[in-house]
Amino acid sequence: MRHFSCDLCGKDLTPPAARYVVKLEGFAATDPAELTDDDLDEDHVAEMAQLLSEMEDGESDGPEEPPACSKQRFDLCARCYRRFLKDPLGREAPSRLDFSPN
Ligand SMILES: [Zn+2]
Repeated sequence: MRHFSCDLCGKDLTPPAARYVVKLEGFAATDPAELTDDDLDEDHVAEMAQLLSEMEDGESDGPEEPPACSKQRFDLCARCYRRFLKDPLGREAPSRLDFSPN
């Protein structure tokens, strides 16, 4: 049997423990179909061609460059799942996340 543990707190999620799955999908919000006339300006075309060739060369794969598309999956315990729903982006101060509802 596959062993599951909470990706946030490490709690053992072996059944009958409640396990919640969170799927996260992120992607660059650039749609080539929505290019405007400005985008087709010669400079931009050259710029994009440059970018594309750099991407092909793998030279723009610096640590600052996030992937265009990213899918992640997390297994969470009930407590961390509730927490996640309340604050999906972790904007609350860490100290406020330390309270125990149990
Ligand atoms: Zn947890």
